[in-house]
Amino acid sequence: MLKTTIAGSLPKPSWLAEPEELWAPWRLEGEELEQGKRDAALIWIKEEEDAGIDIVTEGEQFRMHFVHGFLEHVAGIDWEKKTKMGIRDGRYVVDVPTVTGALSRKGSVHGLEARFARAHTKRGLKFTLPGPMTICDTIADAHYGKRADMAMAFAELLNQEARELEAEGVDLIQFDEPAFNVFMDDVKEWGIAALHKAIEGLKCQTAVHICYGYGIQANLDWKESLGSEWRQYEEIFPALNESRLDQVSLECANSKVPLSLIGLLSKKTVMVGAIDVASETVETPEQVAATIRAAMEFVDAERISPCTNCGMAPLPRNVAVGKLQALGAGAEIMRKELAGG
Ligand code: ZN
Repeated sequence: MLKTTIAGSLPKPSWLAEPEELWAPWRLEGEELEQGKRDAALIWIKEEEDAGIDIVTEGEQFRMHFVHGFLEHVAGIDWEKKTKMGIRDGRYVVDVPTVTGALSRKGSVHGLEARFARAHTKRGLKFTLPGPMTICDTIADAHYGKRADMAMAFAELLNQEARELEAEGVDLIQFDEPAFNVFMDDVKEWGIAALHKAIEGLKCQTAVHICYGYGIQANLDWKESLGSEWRQYEEIFPALNESRLDQVSLECANSKVPLSLIGLLSKKTVMVGAIDVASETVETPEQVAATIRAAMEFVDAERISPCTNCGMAPLPRNVAVGKLQALGAGAEIMRKELAGG
């Protein structure tokens, strides 16, 4: 009960990439870089295990960007043809690459990484992939004509990748969809259908991670505009609750999301974010336990998986280790409490 996991990413060691940056440039190259990524993944698997995390990740040590890391392995994209696009409904404008032909996977994206991680842990293993809607919000379309159609094409490629990850022994595949609380109508119209395409035929556990974004100023400004209570989830949770995904991951620590909203996910395992990734202050185990306890008012303990609010990539390494330990220890407090001791 209360199986712990993390949203996905962890900081890169400073010898591998610039520390405390979101999409930090690598500090190694060639074979040294490839070996460095494996070494860093090993460190984090060990740190997670020692902290008592039940379902571990490779900390996303092999990729620089959670969307582009996937897109680099996709044919049909013209990286030279930049299109100006307002990301997340215009929250920030950037030059993005353009889809100019039918999309296909050039080959495996994360297969070898999953095999490596699987060979080095007996714990549950989780892998993250970008969700179709979030991918489509990061790239321009000059081929499909409709965003929903392009999303379905990406979902097909994600499904190929997910089946491969499952075959490598991954226990839980999570799709990151920070775009889900921006385009609430699209979520209901085609966002969940695209995720269903992405998980088609999988027997392993599947999850979607939704969040309000962290780190960059444009996200902080947007959050300021949302008012004192963030109720966007209220619009999409009923549809997510009826979806075929097994788990939903969201922020609950220091969040302006009313906790009662997770009560709308009565058919799902809820990954309760009990670690604030926007703060460098390490939670105490008791604070983590208090967040889990509060979530238990709305979700049965059997359906709670204590987690981080979001990825920890931009945090200092020692802070991330401290937060892993607090998460493991906080869940243990609650397990003992539930056992009556
Ligand atoms: Zn997130």
